[in-house]
Amino acid sequence: MKRFSFGAVERPVRVAIVGAGPSGFYAAESLLKRAGISIRVDMLDRLPTPFGLVRGGVAPDHQKIKAVTTIYTRVAEMPGFRFFGNVMLGRDISIEDLKGNYDQIIYAVGNESDRKMRIPGEELIGSCPATEFVGWYNGHPEHKEHVFDLSVERVAVVGVGNVAMDVTRILSRRPDELEDSDISHYALEALRESRVREILILGRRGFAQASFTTKEIKEIAELSGVDLIIDPSEVVLDQLSEGDLSDANCRRNVEFLTDQSKLGEGVEPKKVKLRFLVSPVEILGRNGRVEAVRIEKNELYRDESGTSKPRGKNEFETLEVGMVLRSVGYRGVPIPGVPFDQNLGRIPNESGRVTDEGDNRIEGQYVVGWAKRGPTGLIGTNRRDSIITVDSMLKDLKGKTAKGLPKGEEEAFPGMLRERGVRFVAFEDWKRLNGFEIERGREKGKIREKFTTITEMYKALDQ
Ligand code: NAP
Repeated sequence: MKRFSFGAVERPVRVAIVGAGPSGFYAAESLLKRAGISIRVDMLDRLPTPFGLVRGGVAPDHQKIKAVTTIYTRVAEMPGFRFFGNVMLGRDISIEDLKGNYDQIIYAVGNESDRKMRIPGEELIGSCPATEFVGWYNGHPEHKEHVFDLSVERVAVVGVGNVAMDVTRILSRRPDELEDSDISHYALEALRESRVREILILGRRGFAQASFTTKEIKEIAELSGVDLIIDPSEVVLDQLSEGDLSDANCRRNVEFLTDQSKLGEGVEPKKVKLRFLVSPVEILGRNGRVEAVRIEKNELYRDESGTSKPRGKNEFETLEVGMVLRSVGYRGVPIPGVPFDQNLGRIPNESGRVTDEGDNRIEGQYVVGWAKRGPTGLIGTNRRDSIITVDSMLKDLKGKTAKGLPKGEEEAFPGMLRERGVRFVAFEDWKRLNGFEIERGREKGKIREKFTTITEMYKALDQ
């Protein structure tokens, strides 16, 4: 039997990408743009809609960031690319199914869960992950049913990263400024009725260790009707923090926060108060609902690796709040049959090659994005990172040969899905859904009105 090199026209490399977020699309782009090698990419997503956190995570008032979907759409329109939305690994198909149909598999599954603070009261009504709030205002089908009680006046946001900035902005921004965005209609209605007047953002380390970018914290200071308040006594640069100033974002943050702390309380109706060197130790409640958060003041020390860490000083304070949004980071969810590092919350790998507990490579399986390196970096970070994984994939195929593929072989995977009664959404279907959403938005003067249930999406497609 005649054999061909992988990537020869007679024997295209067949790649399955699980997950249609940024890292998956950058991997697809890198694969499909390689010169002199024939590659086919099938991308699956458990949702009928593509674009992962760009659709379900990026805040509705950050439309410029969402414009990156134009690039992903161009990738999806390249020859050799197919999209299978509403196909979930572990529910509709197994790893064995993928191995049977593809030469290489890329896990681009992101981090679908969130970290916990592991303090008493975390499960009270009114305490939840910020990611839940994000999914809710973005109309994610899995979060749309969550009910947020915005009749409370004070909210604590735990953590000082960019997700904390997003939820703080959406809670404090004037709702009329969101009217033309793609925010879900129910979230906009709830925000219009909101009585939230004060948001306390709690950082466990100092102002020099805040992980938000200066652009994001400045945006809060610039919101109309909002004062950003920082206690000058919490922005004093100690000797230890001076050592962290080598980081450019840290330097910019220190400069901005120091200036901002001099402005005092201000006169605006809504207040965002940034607190540093405090950790929640308990969420207190009455009748099962959040009533307050107890915090402990911290001091910094350097651990053996040289990182600044917080340490409790045994001084406590109780802050009355009606809601606690913990914004302390995302976390990966294990996929049955795929190695998972429980400590780090991600798929273990070497330059994107999935490895098992004994650090041995698992042939043909790769990982990109947050599932590979953890929940860090901006959207663009994933481009460079996905290219590294694709380099590893193509290196692994060098010198390898295979039999030619039988005619019509590319129909085997969709055929299998149909046989199982899985109704998948192709990219052309998504384009129709996209058109419907834009049309629905236009009627209301919005950029788009998203479908927020899978039933609605299919109903629209069946029109
Ligand atoms: P992040 O930047 O890692 O921030 C997590 C925050 O939670 C940190 O302040 C961390 O403090 C704190 N934290 C962790 N465990 C804690 C605990 N037990 N108690 C109290 N505080 C705790 O993560 P993120 O905000 O979830 O964002 C994820 C990634 O997405 C980041 O790379 C971010 O830049 C990106 N993102 C970007 C945008 C944007 O560009 N607009 C928007 C959203 C997200 P320590 O530093 O002390 O660990």
